[in-house]
Amino acid sequence: MMNFTHYQDENAHLDLAGLGSGPFNLSLAALLDSLPELKIRFFDKKPAFGWHPGLMLPGAHMQTSCLKDLVTAVQPTSRWSFLSFLVEKGRFYSFLATEKMVISRSEFVEYMSWVAENLESLQFDSEIREVSFEEGSFVLRSDKEKVKAHNLCLGTGKVPYIPDCARALVGQQCFHASELMSRQPDLRNRKVAIIGGGQTGAEVFLNCLREQWGKADQIQWISRRASFEPLDESPFTNEYFTPDYVSRFLSLPEEKKDTIVEYQKLASDGITPAYLLEIYRELYDRTYLSRSQVNWKLLPDRTLTAMSESSGGFYDLKLTHALSSEDEVLSADIVILCTGFQNILPHYLEPIQSRLNLDEHRRFKLSSCFAVDWDGPDNRRIYAVNAGLHSHGIAEPQLSLTAWRSASIINDLTRREIFSIRQPGSLIGW
Ligand SMILES: Cc1cc2nc3c(=O)[nH]c(=O)nc-3n(C[C@H](O)[C@H](O)[C@H](O)COP(=O)(O)OP(=O)(O)OC[C@H]3O[C@@H](n4cnc5c(N)ncnc54)[C@H](O)[C@@H]3O)c2cc1C
Repeated sequence: MMNFTHYQDENAHLDLAGLGSGPFNLSLAALLDSLPELKIRFFDKKPAFGWHPGLMLPGAHMQTSCLKDLVTAVQPTSRWSFLSFLVEKGRFYSFLATEKMVISRSEFVEYMSWVAENLESLQFDSEIREVSFEEGSFVLRSDKEKVKAHNLCLGTGKVPYIPDCARALVGQQCFHASELMSRQPDLRNRKVAIIGGGQTGAEVFLNCLREQWGKADQIQWISRRASFEPLDESPFTNEYFTPDYVSRFLSLPEEKKDTIVEYQKLASDGITPAYLLEIYRELYDRTYLSRSQVNWKLLPDRTLTAMSESSGGFYDLKLTHALSSEDEVLSADIVILCTGFQNILPHYLEPIQSRLNLDEHRRFKLSSCFAVDWDGPDNRRIYAVNAGLHSHGIAEPQLSLTAWRSASIINDLTRREIFSIRQPGSLIGW
């Protein structure tokens, strides 16, 4: 067990500094709240808690159960559970009457904001610019202060992924969907191209169709996938999102993992089936019943391979068809890139980058407890969350195992079994 009492004469040092207070580090902060003997602080550059605010589209729902909250899976008695939030807000019985297990994203944000507002360990308006390692401690620098810590948890999330061919054209009329709600683009009489056939693409398409940003002249939805494909929410697939499956995945040969993750893609990146039905019914009604004037095109099986600006403020998009290999060109004057997010090595790690043992794709090598492989002393650990898709499997970027992941980190940090994370085997012999 790690002895924390020896930090008493080092008041300036934190036992753990969290970088970022998105859902993953917020969960860590919520579980650490039951260990007041630890000195912890979580820094976030936002002015207050927010969860992908640019993508908070009308009608957006979670893709996971509300019981997969910040704490319940490992500490169901925690004050910071979703059920505790319902009770404190006086909506427990009404909530039960809705018979919902999957809630709106806005309610989940309300829940997480409530946790964030009540935890003392969070510090907003604090962007960490640099992390160095000096005289046996991590030193974090923001514009306001310099903080020393014995351990870190990197939870600064991913960055929007922009396809290479679109990069030079990003601007007022061509932008990543993560900026949609802050931009509130005027789509009236515009030809819109939506690139990406995942949940975000689906939400943007339906909102465009429903004239959220004005009545577009044409809405074109392009997907690389063979069709507009559903999230696989079936019970045996859901077993991928269990600690038991993660521990099996961890034991696989490294060279096999990327292929397996790719094969399992629709278990995490497909479109919620109920949402697909909603879109289909809307198209049916508009086609056969209301005969609405909005003109749309659904274009699956096509990859955006080139893009250029043509005259009159239009973009030419070259699409390559997967089956025929033929190219087609379509034009649009607004392009919304629903192309997801990617992990990058955070810039603030530059001073210690040479001490990190990265893999050939410049990704962290993570222990089963999310500790980054680096050449520092063993009692100075760097944990990283939402950075181990390649090592821990498809559950890693998702909320499903948030509480379990945080508990694994806390047990490793304290060298104690603070939380019981050993699970009975699953129904499947993996
Ligand atoms: C629109 C959307 C919906 C999703 N819905 C679901 C779902 O329903 N179910 C599910 O399981 N998963 C879902 N996911 C996937 C996953 O749960 C989220 O991506 C989740 O936000 C990941 O949490 P995070 O804490 O790792 O990162 P983020 O939420 O991205 O948080 C990172 C935080 O770090 C801060 N930050 C960044 N750099 C710095 C810095 N240098 N210094 C200080 N702070 C910094 C940011 O301000 C941010 O608050 C969704 C993802 C998206 C994009």
